[in-house]
Amino acid sequence: MVKKQGFVKQITSRDDDFAKWYTDVCLKSELCDYSSVKGSMVIRPTGTAIWEKIRDVVDSRLKETGHQNVMMPLLVPEHLLLKEAEHVEGFAPEVAWVTMGGETELSERLAIRPTSEVLFCEHFKTVIHSHRDLPVLYNQWANVMRWEKNTRPFLRTTEFFWQEGHTCHVSHEEAEKEALMILDMYVDVCENMLAIPVVTGVKSESEKFAGAEKTYTNETLMYDGKALQINTSHHLGDHFGKAFDITYTDKEGKEQFVYTTSWGLTTRTIGGMIMVHSDDRGLVLPPRIAPTQVIIIPIAQHKEGVLDKADELKVMLSDVATIKVDDSDKQPGWKFSEAEMKGYPIRIEMGPKDIESNQVVVVRRDTLEKMTVPFDDTLPTVISELLETIHHDMLAKARKRQEEKTRVATTKEEFNRLIEEGGFVLAPWSGDEAVEELIKEQTGATSRCWSFDHQQDDLTGLKDLWNGKPAQYMMHWAKAY
Ligand code: AMP
Repeated sequence: MVKKQGFVKQITSRDDDFAKWYTDVCLKSELCDYSSVKGSMVIRPTGTAIWEKIRDVVDSRLKETGHQNVMMPLLVPEHLLLKEAEHVEGFAPEVAWVTMGGETELSERLAIRPTSEVLFCEHFKTVIHSHRDLPVLYNQWANVMRWEKNTRPFLRTTEFFWQEGHTCHVSHEEAEKEALMILDMYVDVCENMLAIPVVTGVKSESEKFAGAEKTYTNETLMYDGKALQINTSHHLGDHFGKAFDITYTDKEGKEQFVYTTSWGLTTRTIGGMIMVHSDDRGLVLPPRIAPTQVIIIPIAQHKEGVLDKADELKVMLSDVATIKVDDSDKQPGWKFSEAEMKGYPIRIEMGPKDIESNQVVVVRRDTLEKMTVPFDDTLPTVISELLETIHHDMLAKARKRQEEKTRVATTKEEFNRLIEEGGFVLAPWSGDEAVEELIKEQTGATSRCWSFDHQQDDLTGLKDLWNGKPAQYMMHWAKAY
């Protein structure tokens, strides 16, 4: 079904064709645009402003916890990439190579970084000597490239923006603590900034990062019931320390290998936010991430005093929210649809009649609820409280949907049916990788994580639904993006 009115007429309904709806929202809310580079996109001003907000919050949290930003080269010499066997094997199919420098063929191919792991490791080897040099807590804000086959704006692009953290520690315990601390910070960003509820846990051996000892993950469900790995934090053990010979002299004068971690949050986060919250009228932005939180739409703005009053309102609210006045010459109905498409959390409508009665009309984007509010000095408090309410309501709504779409399977048949219906399926698993393969082949689902919430479950008597072996894990499974 195609909506028939005004600005939103070309939006596909999300229940009819979710993939098409998603692309429509990304493009029509002007977050991004296609480019002639296949699989890469132009991130437009609003999309960039959203990323900058995420970046600012994450960056300040990292600095508060002692991390420092650095900048690594874009290109990785092939011999360096080959040093950690699992790592190169994991990334090989996705690497884009530079083979020419001008007219000259290069003697060694250069990879466009799919991640900067090995560049960091090479550098760590030269700067770390003693236990006094540790921990090293580095982060980089950068773009990376992975030659993805199936791409989708924000969610999976060949070039994407991220922060990649790389740290070195004296002990396994300290590296573990770091990986988990970062995971917690990601949970906080997802839930308290983007209103995205997450399931937090550990990846299976076959789903973990190439070269990691353990991959911790935050998983979330999209509106259509597919899962998304929204960010990950890896404990790399001493694998990279050994592969790159990164050693330090401990307090007793003995040479030791460092333990490392790496972790990343990408522009995929924006795609997840769209798929969780938006609707058939367009984007719905959680207030804490919205670059503009309130849009004021003057009605009959040609009439004397209306635009002045709108400006007065803007000044009045500017301490509690980021505001824009839409004083363009479009019709109010068009402006309303456009405001809905662009996802401003609150729209304030104000015309001559409202001015006469000293009131404004406030409309919530998340529920489309309309309310009349006095235009007096209580208004800033009303708006700032409403922004908070919207954030909490959006998180609660998404959490409720996620919980409703998380179901337990007790037989293989039930598992297959629930996977087909969409959402997370919890099922006991022996840990056998052949079962993961089989499930993927037969249902298209993958193991998402062994969530912390289920790590204390009593599995006595429970059997793997596929091979009948005793269950070791209560796993989250789902079809995923
Ligand atoms: P990794 O370095 O493989 O652990 O990736 C870190 C995070 O990047 C993953 O957890 C995903 O959320 C995200 N990610 C991976 N591939 C892409 C991609 N092609 N586009 C956007 N984000 C991605």
